[in-house]
Amino acid sequence: MFTSHISRQLAAYVDDELEPRKAQRAELHMGHCAHCRAECDQVKFGMAVLEHLSLFEAPEGEWASIEAAFQESRSRQAPVIDRWRMVFAATVVLALVGVAYWAVTRQSGMRWEVVGLEGSPTVGAKQISGGGQIGAGEWIETDARSSATVKVGEIGSVEVEPNTRVRVIATRPREHRFALLRGEIRAKISAPPRLFFVDTASGTAVDLGCEYALNTNEDGFGMLRVTKGWVSFQFKGLESLVPAGASCRTRPRAGPGIPYFDDAPENLKQALESFAFEKAGNEALSMILAESRVRDTLTLWHLLSRVEAGDRGRVYDRIAVLTPVPAGVSREQALKLDPETLNRWKEELAWTW
Ligand SMILES: [Zn+2]
Repeated sequence: MFTSHISRQLAAYVDDELEPRKAQRAELHMGHCAHCRAECDQVKFGMAVLEHLSLFEAPEGEWASIEAAFQESRSRQAPVIDRWRMVFAATVVLALVGVAYWAVTRQSGMRWEVVGLEGSPTVGAKQISGGGQIGAGEWIETDARSSATVKVGEIGSVEVEPNTRVRVIATRPREHRFALLRGEIRAKISAPPRLFFVDTASGTAVDLGCEYALNTNEDGFGMLRVTKGWVSFQFKGLESLVPAGASCRTRPRAGPGIPYFDDAPENLKQALESFAFEKAGNEALSMILAESRVRDTLTLWHLLSRVEAGDRGRVYDRIAVLTPVPAGVSREQALKLDPETLNRWKEELAWTW
């Protein structure tokens, strides 16, 4: 069980130096912990910069200030020796933001292979058949009789289903990004979390190491279905975490709906639908609570922060009946939606998801 953050392991994790079990635990933790995810991104970014330091010569003065900052932070951090790389990486980021920008953007010209075509989709500016390439800024459009598969750099592939319009936004090693305007894509990604993103009109799907299908229309009504790993669907500060075997609707201006397991009781799924879209009140909520199994705490945990304040107690009590409330989670704090409490609870509940 995770009771604390994994800051101290992040440098080793990003460097692929953790033993597999620890790396797996770190990934699981990051699946639930926004704090450590953000820190991990920072470390990755810092290390990306370090990797490119040999490509140029930093002005003398800049190196002096980096070294001074490094010495200072090292003396502050002395007892925690394995943090030094992270501190150094962070220091370099602060000192060399301009250079970092250069180091990352100079890789943006990469092009991805388009393979496995059916019919004649439009790729880039022209109709192609057989195969081709696509770069940042270019579109793929399929009609009713065509489809295509894009090799996403080194990390996986995206199938573009018929009647789909999708744009490649970024092809950088640490940011593989599509925008899905309409239709459906199927992503198979095998990479550390948060390297692959798909924007839609109702939010962004952030890969946490997974396989999933995502469809949407131009307004943003759509569906995310995860078959492996985790996806975080985000819209203006609202986040839905969707594990393998679960789905989540998306809708315009409201972002991700409440995730549910595909094998959840039909009554629960139907009630959730009316709850999410018509603001159906009491009756739908009662149905969801009554029908929930232990695993459906996935749905209930997300519901807690999205029902009216007066209904939170009912949701809390139902989760507490289904599975013991862990130490560090109090009813009072949970009903106030205290972020740390909710996070702590989610980490514990996720063992059943
Ligand atoms: Zn954490």
